[in-house]
Amino acid sequence: PTWVYSFGEGVADGGIRLRHLLGTKGANLAEMASLGLPVPPGFTITTEVCRHYYANDHRYPDDLERQVSAALDLLSRRTGRSFGHPERPLLVSVRSGALAAMPGMMDTVLNLGLNDVTVEALAAESGDARFALDSYRRFIQMFGDVVMGVDGQAFEEILDDLKEREGYFNDTELTADEWRRVIASYKELIADETGKPFPLDPLEQLWGAIGAVFGSWGNRRAVTFRKLHGISSNSGTAVNVQAMVFGNMDERSATGVAFTRNPSTGERQLYGEFLLNAQGEEVVAGLRTPQDITETARLASRSDRPSLEALMPETYREFIGYCQKLERHFKDIQDLEFTIERGKLWMLQTRSGRRTVEAALRIAVDMANEGLITREEAIERIDPSSLEQLLHPTIEADAPRDILATGLPASPGAAVGEIAFNSEQAEKARQRGIKVILVRAETSPDDVHGMHSAVGVVTARGGMTSHAAVIARGLGKPCVVGVSALKADPVAGTVTVGKRELRAGDVITIDGSSGQVMAGRVPMKEPELSGPFAEIMTWADAIRRLEVRANAETPVEARIARQFGAEGIGLCRTEHMFFEHSRISAVREMILAETPESRRAALEKILPMQRQDFAELFEIMEGQPVCIRLLDPPLHEFLPRTEREVTELARTAGVAPDVLRRRIANLEEYNPMLGHRGCRLAVSFPEIAEVQARAIFEAAIAAADKLGRPVVPEIMVPLVAARQELDYVKSIIARVAIEVSEAAGRPVNYKVGTMIELPRAALMAEDIAQSAAFFSFGTNDLTQTTFGISRDDAASFLPTYLQKGVLARDPFVSIDRDGVGELIRIAIERGRKSRPDIGLGMCGEHGGDPASIAFCEEAGLAYVSCSPFRMPIARLAAARAVV
Ligand code: ADP
Ligand code: MG
Ligand code: MG
Repeated sequence: PTWVYSFGEGVADGGIRLRHLLGTKGANLAEMASLGLPVPPGFTITTEVCRHYYANDHRYPDDLERQVSAALDLLSRRTGRSFGHPERPLLVSVRSGALAAMPGMMDTVLNLGLNDVTVEALAAESGDARFALDSYRRFIQMFGDVVMGVDGQAFEEILDDLKEREGYFNDTELTADEWRRVIASYKELIADETGKPFPLDPLEQLWGAIGAVFGSWGNRRAVTFRKLHGISSNSGTAVNVQAMVFGNMDERSATGVAFTRNPSTGERQLYGEFLLNAQGEEVVAGLRTPQDITETARLASRSDRPSLEALMPETYREFIGYCQKLERHFKDIQDLEFTIERGKLWMLQTRSGRRTVEAALRIAVDMANEGLITREEAIERIDPSSLEQLLHPTIEADAPRDILATGLPASPGAAVGEIAFNSEQAEKARQRGIKVILVRAETSPDDVHGMHSAVGVVTARGGMTSHAAVIARGLGKPCVVGVSALKADPVAGTVTVGKRELRAGDVITIDGSSGQVMAGRVPMKEPELSGPFAEIMTWADAIRRLEVRANAETPVEARIARQFGAEGIGLCRTEHMFFEHSRISAVREMILAETPESRRAALEKILPMQRQDFAELFEIMEGQPVCIRLLDPPLHEFLPRTEREVTELARTAGVAPDVLRRRIANLEEYNPMLGHRGCRLAVSFPEIAEVQARAIFEAAIAAADKLGRPVVPEIMVPLVAARQELDYVKSIIARVAIEVSEAAGRPVNYKVGTMIELPRAALMAEDIAQSAAFFSFGTNDLTQTTFGISRDDAASFLPTYLQKGVLARDPFVSIDRDGVGELIRIAIERGRKSRPDIGLGMCGEHGGDPASIAFCEEAGLAYVSCSPFRMPIARLAAARAVV
């Protein structure tokens, strides 16, 4: 097989079709080369070699050495250089590159091929001995660190010692001889630490670096990252070997990173930073603060350092041309790395840019409007769950702000939390339910854990493309970087800004959209969902088949639901109305009643309140369907728990506390989930169903009068296992309907249906459907009863199941297609047998889960119902389920 693919000079063996083999970096380098962009030539060793390496005890395929050597020959011809050549030495970078982006996870070695001989050639070619020696010592350091396992800090110390001794501030002050001494010390350090000499043979260097890249696929950082992001450890990394170009040769050289659009807002404007006279990772590392690429950005940031556009207008124009070409080719925002060597532009990397949700929406909508992609493609590009981040609060516009310092707005949204200095602190706090903001000088891959635990991130150093910024945007967490006024001292546990000092645990507020870091808690507001969000929602609505309803019981929820596009209420849980402060005492009176008469008397007090609740809901929904569930939870849930509440209730209800305690004890159940609840309540206490039905019908009449249009309530009977239960409750409802219509002098229209939340109900669906106008799948209870798992007790074992892979997914989060899904399919099929036009919907947590919504589409339900805040997610997921 082919293990090695070459690229360069306008041609390439591979391309994006071979992404799984070449990794994204290698495939896109090949693609850029084929498009005629200036890419330093090189070759890619495939991910298949990586798999072979791990499957065969860290050995390479037999033919690899020959193929690499052939690729090196071709590279020599393309560059006119060869390994170890005393005048024209070939220098390369060795870069990892997997299919999925793993920023900062694998280590790159630059300047490989330098040794005591070739360094002189580089010095002669560049006319700058110090540059050549600096490159050499950087290579030894990287190679020593990445390949030979010598702590990088030890190299820094050698250099720092020398600078301190000589009183130097910058590396540029070192003389050539001093650089030679540093190099000699570096080599000694490696020999001392490893017992092996630093290899001078470029071929030996190359194989060492290749081995290190494959080895790094298995290192702890990479393994953790893959776990966190659900990347298969079997996919492997490719190795890219590429001719070096130097952004640090002189002041006409530079290196930079750019996004073809703004990755934070999605605006259509090139967005990027560069450093003059710098190499490789320096922009990303955030040690020096970079300059803006475009003049517009420089003006906006009020920087006094010139933009690339102003400094090198021709190179800038060439670069802009490539950006446009790449965007048109890849049909997506691109994240690019480039280097300028003595005025000549080289493209080093391109990939789809990570972006915030806001940016993703704007880019998808803009690109569809630009004709680059279709509306369906635009919809497919938005991960429905990510919309949740849009519901992040922002800071109230006129709230007083105690601004400590301002940095770069790296990831939007606002957050309030206590200061934490490291991942351990952040994680501990999160476990205790405390929100923290991670404050660091800069972040490295070791901090990713802490970033997951934090609600926001602040770094003192770094630019918009620094590690912290990139990761935070990916996580959708507010982030401010480059807050140079801020000094974090993790050892002392303090942050100082000017004269002010804050400590770990102090509360700060950050605004990732303005870059402000503020003391204390600043008031926030919910976001406005207009612009591209609204546009993509309109497109989704035009495409989706599933109706989307909301689970709502209060007027506030109902209004939010409509604002978020609900087409009705799929589940109104009446018990939530009972819990309300002003009526709980009437509810308790009803529960404690010893006779039907006294129970009815208490219920008469509740009736007007319920009627008012329902009337308001009907009015807000303006004739859209409203599905009301009769009282469902065990009565015990409404009774007081604490001793103080008990004595108080005894007093107001006029019973002896002992009597009350006995009554409470009587209502206690061993297993309330399977106890006296659902339609069983209506069977034991028909007065409850009766009064609820009356409230519903009277409210419907009142609302219909107000709206001037018919209101047809849907009444849902919970926890039905047998048709006889439904028939019993239905007869009560029918009787009340007649009474109310006689009193009002006109007919009342309504539908009675049932929840399918017990396996028996699903199996008996044909029979039950004779009496039910609709089925609503209550998947929370159906999952509990199908698995025999009580959701309230699952915490003690379900996490272990997931961790050990005994269950692939939490069935309470994403519907279990195989088991619970099968019951739903059976119920639909059997229900339709006796009632072909039966109404079908799903309510419960699953109604807001994209994977479960896709299931509902396949199963042919008419609607899903979920919490108001998940409405946009459900609308988008429903559209994606059909494209
Ligand atoms: P990562 O995957 O972490 O982005 P890269 O392989 O892109 O790592 O390499 C890190 C840095 O090294 C890049 O920013 C790039 O600018 C620089 N680099 C890589 N290859 C070369 C090369 N052939 N010449 C000059 N610079 C290079
Ligand atoms: Mg890197
Ligand atoms: Mg890179």
